[in-house]
Amino acid sequence: MRYSMENTNVPVISAKDLNLWYGDFKALKGISLDVGEREITALIGPSGCGKSTFLKTLNRMNDLVPNVRIEGDVRLKGEDIFAREMQLTDLRRRVGMVFQKANPFPMSIYDNITYGPKLHGVRNKAELDELVESSLRGAALWDEVKDRLKKSALGLSGGQQQRVAIARAIVSEPRLLLLDEPLSNLDAKLRVDMRSELKRLHHDTGSTIIYVTHDQVEALTMSTKIALFREGELVQVDKPLELYDNPCDLYTADFIGNPSINFVEASGTAGASGLSVDGVMGRLEFSREDMTPEAPASGDLKLVLGIRPEQITISREKTDAAQVEARVYAGMPAGSETLVSVRVGEKLITVKELGSTHYAGDETVYLSYPPKKVNVFDASTKRLIKYSR
Ligand code: ATP
Repeated sequence: MRYSMENTNVPVISAKDLNLWYGDFKALKGISLDVGEREITALIGPSGCGKSTFLKTLNRMNDLVPNVRIEGDVRLKGEDIFAREMQLTDLRRRVGMVFQKANPFPMSIYDNITYGPKLHGVRNKAELDELVESSLRGAALWDEVKDRLKKSALGLSGGQQQRVAIARAIVSEPRLLLLDEPLSNLDAKLRVDMRSELKRLHHDTGSTIIYVTHDQVEALTMSTKIALFREGELVQVDKPLELYDNPCDLYTADFIGNPSINFVEASGTAGASGLSVDGVMGRLEFSREDMTPEAPASGDLKLVLGIRPEQITISREKTDAAQVEARVYAGMPAGSETLVSVRVGEKLITVKELGSTHYAGDETVYLSYPPKKVNVFDASTKRLIKYSR
């Protein structure tokens, strides 16, 4: 199965200034997002920020909700999904959806998968057989169920039922596949296996996927683009590593990354040549070319430095004047990595080291970090003013 690629310049989905109200409550506030051919876009953000609402608007599932009001424009390959002539059955064939909870119909595996194609007029048995096999292969389930296709789908395990749901969604070769936390009900091992199966499905079919997840690792590893929501607004849309390296504000920086980024207050002075910073993490000089367009041209500033735990190196010896003295608060070796919290003055900082190292409480250590990798935020606007390079 392979999706055709006509008009690759036209986004598969283009949402412009999309607003949605449930009664008086505004759940989506001016969302604009383009999703291009073959992209996997992960929607992330805290509970209740509007991820599922946005997803369900794309195949008009929200039409079923009482008191819902939608304004704005959504185009599927250039076609207005809210146009009078848009048939909902046709839209849902082109925009497949898989939910968090597997929901097979109480019928055989074969009938579950052929339900949609039959609805759309496919009657030929050989054709239906082929669709069943190719979609089950796409969902990485064929080998497990090929000898019991006529058995009830309800007799399958949770992970298998979820893959039936994926097969059912891809059997009609949708232009767009919407996945609403499809792996969150699976156990940890199956979840990791299914990540690679979904990536493989994407590779084999060239499908375009929009994917809601609570799991940051899933978002960072699965997607070509991440869209971060907050309270119904879209805060930042970027490639995963760009979002991780250069979050646009303190909120995004705090949301992305586990363990969380360290925030350290500092003071600074902006000038024509760049930014001088002073604080408990030492004196730093940044040149203008590393500053974002939002950096002030001049003046004294209150700043927040963002330093990722894995960027900091701990040493027991002081070998360099730039090292920052710290005291171990607690060391947490965990096999492949060690998390160490240390005190620099009053500030607690998390350091992540590869491998297992044992640190004693109150031990004196010395920290170093590459200044180029530091994010600098303006404390008053909360916006990023210096890139990590
Ligand atoms: P989660 O991660 O918990 O699934 P989410 O980001 O997907 O959350 P939504 O389910 O889109 O969030 O909900 C966004 C907001 O809209 C929430 O405040 C929610 O309570 C509200 N909401 C969702 N569905 C309805 C509905 N049918 N009627 C009224 N309010 C709703």
